[in-house]
Amino acid sequence: MMTTMETLAIRTENKFRTLITKQAYKKGDVICAMPSENITEKPNRFTVQIARNKHTHVGKLAALNHSCSPNVILDTDKMQVVACKDIEKGEDLYFFYPSTEWEMDAPFICLCGASNCIHVVAGARFLPLSTLENHYLNPHIRDLMIELLKNTKNILKNLKG
Ligand SMILES: [Zn+2]
Repeated sequence: MMTTMETLAIRTENKFRTLITKQAYKKGDVICAMPSENITEKPNRFTVQIARNKHTHVGKLAALNHSCSPNVILDTDKMQVVACKDIEKGEDLYFFYPSTEWEMDAPFICLCGASNCIHVVAGARFLPLSTLENHYLNPHIRDLMIELLKNTKNILKNLKG
């Protein structure tokens, strides 16, 4: 199993960074481990959310861009980057940001062009369940979503009361 980030490279074009792979992967392959040495409580553009109030600085992986039709997943349980499609050598790598991020520090408009594009990438809390359930989601996102739904139910109950 490859656990270093040696197979990954950052490509910069017009100040736009992308993360590319220097080798091919099959769906299900572990690409590398996620760094966990530097944890903060608040998100920024160099972090990935791994638990309710935990954001890990991901080093080179911060160049991973978002796509609504991603080719990798970030498994924050096993702290691994895993191919979720067959990936060719030289391909750009993407993951679905709301699969780890509940509420992002810097939301943006997605131009990935996928038929299921969510357009506004701001974190899982701003997406309907019907969209989220079509994606790989980490345990902390599932937990936060369940909590949000429970709170909404209680608010509706109080309104009726
Ligand atoms: Zn998109």
